[in-house]
Amino acid sequence: MDATPFDYQAVLDQVARDVAPLVGAGTPAEYIPALASVDPAQFGMALVTMGGKVFGVGDWQVPFSTQSITKVFTLALALSAEGGDSLWERVGREPSGNPFNSLVQLEYENGIPRNPFINAGALVVTDRLQTLTGDASSELLKFLREESGNPDVAFDAEVAASEHEHGDRNAALAHFMASYGNIDNPVPALLDHYFWQCSIEMSCADLARAARVLARHGLRADGSRLLTRSGAKQINAVMLTCGTYDAAGEFAYRVGLPGKSGVGGGIVAVVPGRCALAVWSPGLDAHGNSVAGVAALDRFTTLTGMSVF
Ligand code: GLU
Repeated sequence: MDATPFDYQAVLDQVARDVAPLVGAGTPAEYIPALASVDPAQFGMALVTMGGKVFGVGDWQVPFSTQSITKVFTLALALSAEGGDSLWERVGREPSGNPFNSLVQLEYENGIPRNPFINAGALVVTDRLQTLTGDASSELLKFLREESGNPDVAFDAEVAASEHEHGDRNAALAHFMASYGNIDNPVPALLDHYFWQCSIEMSCADLARAARVLARHGLRADGSRLLTRSGAKQINAVMLTCGTYDAAGEFAYRVGLPGKSGVGGGIVAVVPGRCALAVWSPGLDAHGNSVAGVAALDRFTTLTGMSVF
């Protein structure tokens, strides 16, 4: 299963050398102090094969704030718990072309967010997971610990508190959708779960291991099935079209893989049937994607030819 045509370690080492001039470029997220104070001169990348072999370079074992990357895993858990297609009646699957925290489309589309990776969509998905499991953020944490094999994966209480303090926009989104009947749980409790999810800290190694379920067409680390093959395909497709804010077209053009970024500077990417990757460097471009992270994935698919195109 792990027979590969590439020396992955050599590829990652080459990628790290090639993107070194970009590490520190861009600006770390500034909306909360815990993110603004991160040293931008960091870069890590990890790759996990289908069989679970891990390769890494740079700061690949350093935990960072995963932020919106966890939206992928919340979606996977909600789809699994829902056990059918009904989640897609509450959230769309089209790119939004608008910033991740935009309110404008919601009014025209009756409180149905464009996709699960903009904040409005992620709130709906978290609401469903909360209804279906009774504790959305604990379910997510448990899953991430199990898949990464790292029992130390944890929430960051300081980040969660900061998110709350600066959470007016997310509160507005949730209340607005609740007015259309698209949120079932009390908004304050939903926001708690959402902010806890944003605060989870993981390393590139942890994230790549956790994303392996999407490379393995829905099979978890222990061999049990989380998602049907179609469910895994759906999530990978939505990552490709909607996973990198309003720059998903550019990401597909440059990298050519399903990917999901977060404003902590991390990005996970999936090569279905081959491997899962995670990269981290805190400096962001104007869209909120890691400058060195996108460049590294671009170099990876260029060097290996392992894009989905
Ligand atoms: N915590 C952020 C928010 O909900 C998400 C940031 C991200 O897109 O990574 O506003």
